[in-house]
Amino acid sequence: MLATWVMGSEPPLIELERVGRRYVKKGAPVVALRDVSVRFHAGEFVCISGPSGAGKSTLMHILGCLDTPDSGSYRFAGREVQALGADALAWLRRRAFGFVFQNYNLLESATARENVELPAVYAGLAPGVRRARALELLAELGLERRVNHRPSMLSGGEQQRVAIARAMMNGGRVILADEPTGSLDSKSGEEALRLLERLAAEGHAVILISHNPDVAARAHRRVALLDGRIEADSGPPARLPGVTAFRQGSNAAEMAAIGGLGRLLDRLRTGVASLRANLLRVRRIYAALTTFSMLLGVWVVVTMLSIAAGVYADTLTTMGQLGTNRMQVEPRSRDGERSVDLTLQDAYAIAEQVPNAERVMPLLGQKLTARYGEKSQLVSVEGYIEITAAGASRYAPRLERGRFITPRNNDNIDQVGVIGRAVKDALFSVEADPVGQYIVLDNLPFLVQGLLDGEQSHIGAPGWLGRRQGRFIMVPFRAAAALLLGTDAPQALEITVRDPLKMAATAQAVRELLIRRHGGEGFLISYSSARVEQMGRDRMNLWLGLGSIGLIALLAGGLGVMAIMLMAVSERTREIGMRMAVGARRRDIAQQFVIEAVALAAAGGVLGLLVSLASNPVAQSFGIPTAFSPWILLAALACSAGTGLAFGIAPARRASRLDPVAALAARR
Ligand code: ADP
Repeated sequence: MLATWVMGSEPPLIELERVGRRYVKKGAPVVALRDVSVRFHAGEFVCISGPSGAGKSTLMHILGCLDTPDSGSYRFAGREVQALGADALAWLRRRAFGFVFQNYNLLESATARENVELPAVYAGLAPGVRRARALELLAELGLERRVNHRPSMLSGGEQQRVAIARAMMNGGRVILADEPTGSLDSKSGEEALRLLERLAAEGHAVILISHNPDVAARAHRRVALLDGRIEADSGPPARLPGVTAFRQGSNAAEMAAIGGLGRLLDRLRTGVASLRANLLRVRRIYAALTTFSMLLGVWVVVTMLSIAAGVYADTLTTMGQLGTNRMQVEPRSRDGERSVDLTLQDAYAIAEQVPNAERVMPLLGQKLTARYGEKSQLVSVEGYIEITAAGASRYAPRLERGRFITPRNNDNIDQVGVIGRAVKDALFSVEADPVGQYIVLDNLPFLVQGLLDGEQSHIGAPGWLGRRQGRFIMVPFRAAAALLLGTDAPQALEITVRDPLKMAATAQAVRELLIRRHGGEGFLISYSSARVEQMGRDRMNLWLGLGSIGLIALLAGGLGVMAIMLMAVSERTREIGMRMAVGARRRDIAQQFVIEAVALAAAGGVLGLLVSLASNPVAQSFGIPTAFSPWILLAALACSAGTGLAFGIAPARRASRLDPVAALAARR
């Protein structure tokens, strides 16, 4: 089946030349390895033994590129390893090595299949391909019925087989195992051993640490360490299996690797899936605390923003009533220029072309005598028409009775009117209903179709033609122009703006438009600028005040996220070490923790939003004005995710900077 080589004709896979490794322990230097020179070939099955402290683990870590020697040289497949950076070492671990640990080091939260897939996730293998390969490996190792079990539901022997399958996942050429049978009963230990023998027969270099004499007896080669030196080495066997049977996993992996964006998406997907599994099953308290700290932060932020928006909306309404959202254009001769004649078309042009102009009302009115029966009264008669870009208006005045003037009344030049309170009092008896009655204006009968409620000063300019006293009648604009006044040239245009803070710019736009239309500046635009400016300042102060409270709350939430993530990192140190051993780069580890922090913070953000919405009626019942807008909700979500990102980076960096060997040695 296999071609064989006589030793020496094939270059060694691993060459150590006078390798040394020292540590400093409690201030004193400790030499873990000294002048170790040894060569291993593909297909060898090597057992390393020696008393505790002899340097076995150190040697394994150096062989597996988790650690680097202080002196001497390490060549893998003919290439010097020491020259490689952290990412290149991770690449080598991913491609060339498979680790099997004594305590299995499986992810508790993941299924057997997911554990086996892990190295391929870091190698960027497409999900379908890696899943198929993991299932194939598990089936090969007799675990086809266990693929969806989590480690806690597997026996020790099964867990070790999962760990071996994981070591084989990327088709690494070297399998490194630390006491692979140490935690197993004799039957499971025998199975694991047979598996490792088979891997060696297929062309892997299998190097294991064991104190077990049975294991040592099965190995092709025994290396004994003592005090950091090789004390005895039985040497490579005379004949080795050929590498023709060597698994082509790594090549297949190379070919099916996915690139760029797909890889990031895959990473996100697996990240979130593992997060979910991890948090729902293992670390509920952490997840709950992180989420809760963000929930509080976002709750405060949203409440503050909604109060700011609510107060602002209130101010807008008040300002609307005071006329701060309006400007007037009147004909006026200036600088020797003739005053212009404003037209109805000017009003239409402004409504259409000036974006901040919400409504334009041409003002056209005159004092006339109104009669009803025996009684008469001098009143202001005003032509009413409302011009908006959108058509509909929210400015229809409140009526005590009847209905207001409709666009249709205007089109038909209907002789109808809506009267103010003072007109009603002057012409009608207290108990009479004026609606449905005809009053006479300038000898023409007008049907009263509505009675205005109260003073209604906010319909138009305050004081305009005595409107404030309610001594006025509104009639359709065209009726006023054609039947009563003999002109349709407005005496003024009143423009209501959407955003009073843009009053100055809007006035400028109107000015330019009218100059274009009339060829001169014979008009005057006026508005209450002091109030508008004050309002802008008030709004700014409000945002600053409430915004900084929100910011502090977010900061507190973010610090909560950070504290909990840092705790999670130290709690999961060994998991991080294992991920590094199977080939995760630093940035993979960092990415994972950032994804976790952002996902938890965003979840907290969503909950915070829900709590804010739920607590809103309470605020309102205390008379606090609040208003929600989609952008407040979006901003809150963005803030929470952003906070997760900002405060997740430090823990993620800490995780990614861990030394793989130290991380693997951690108790948790
Ligand atoms: P073994 O695996 O054979 O028990 P090790 O390789 O773990 O031996 O350790 C060899 C020597 O190096 C021991 O004296 C150990 O105390 C020391 N050593 C190993 N790792 C460290 C470390 N991270 N810091 C300090 N000393 C260490």
